[in-house]
Amino acid sequence: MRGKTSAFTGKSGAGELAIIERIRGRASGGEGRGVSLGIGDDCALLRLKAGEEAAVTTDLSIEGRHFRLESHPAEAIGHRTLARGLSDIAAMGARPVAAFLSLGLPGKLTRARVGKTAWVDRFLEGFLALAERHRTPLAGGDLAESAIAVADIVVMGAVPRGEAMLRSGARPGDLIYVTGMLGGSSAGLRKLVSPEGKRKGKQNEAEVAAHLWPEPRIAQGLWLRGHGAATAAIDISDGLSTDLEHLCTESGVSAEIDAEGLPVAPGATLQDALHGGEDYELLFTARRQTKIPGRIAGVPVSRIGRIGRLAGGETSVNLWDSSGRRPLDRGGWEHFEKPGERG
Ligand SMILES: [Mg+2]
Repeated sequence: MRGKTSAFTGKSGAGELAIIERIRGRASGGEGRGVSLGIGDDCALLRLKAGEEAAVTTDLSIEGRHFRLESHPAEAIGHRTLARGLSDIAAMGARPVAAFLSLGLPGKLTRARVGKTAWVDRFLEGFLALAERHRTPLAGGDLAESAIAVADIVVMGAVPRGEAMLRSGARPGDLIYVTGMLGGSSAGLRKLVSPEGKRKGKQNEAEVAAHLWPEPRIAQGLWLRGHGAATAAIDISDGLSTDLEHLCTESGVSAEIDAEGLPVAPGATLQDALHGGEDYELLFTARRQTKIPGRIAGVPVSRIGRIGRLAGGETSVNLWDSSGRRPLDRGGWEHFEKPGERG
């Protein structure tokens, strides 16, 4: 990590420089893959294969808005920071090349108490475990002291030129699919921040795994792109209702969703599945005649609806259930916007 070392002053300076050295030690090994030169110089040098173009995404995670120090383990915050970036790479059908991480942290999170591991090291533990699983070297970043914890992730991926999956390719008659299960993250978060969830502490973690440890669908995105199977794709970060509307708007189409077909996660409600965010599943469309398998790289795929024409020149997203058809209004993710609530 290229530390802006001038930012580290006073007694904590040495500690923060040590952190950068520890990160550098742990993050090495990217060279030889897509990273020609990693942490240590003014820039990282990345290498694309002939005929590829770069896919670059950035996401900001802020304490109190995207995570809470009192309810989220540091390792899970690290994991989720990278998962958000990798999920965007997956949605384009790209392969990850390298990640860049900038952290703003209060001093208490960078200092270890006696017999304890510093918060920042636990954060990196979670971050680097996911990075290794998806062969995404940490090739640079920055670290500075900040009043609240902030983690900014940049992930660079690569995709054959002209072949990235876009939001804009859906056409009337296409079918709509989603990977995995929906609503598990918001249901898990509800449990995590409930008084009961807090009491149960670590025991509770299995129940809230969908929230704490979302798995970016890199393999599924690569499969869809490699087989030319999807006409459009987006990852579900803000909730199905919001992200489907984004896809429809970019494609100039409408959508009809069947409530019966939605893969509602265990413990989640239909509302969680429709509007809960941070599931990081892939939402994609395909031509009616394209054969989409029931599982891609081990993850189930569900058909949830179909694409239609604009209604009166406008995008509309509708939900069909036993009582008929009604507009599916956006009720997306607001993280912790309202203190004390899921938001
Ligand atoms: Mg996205």
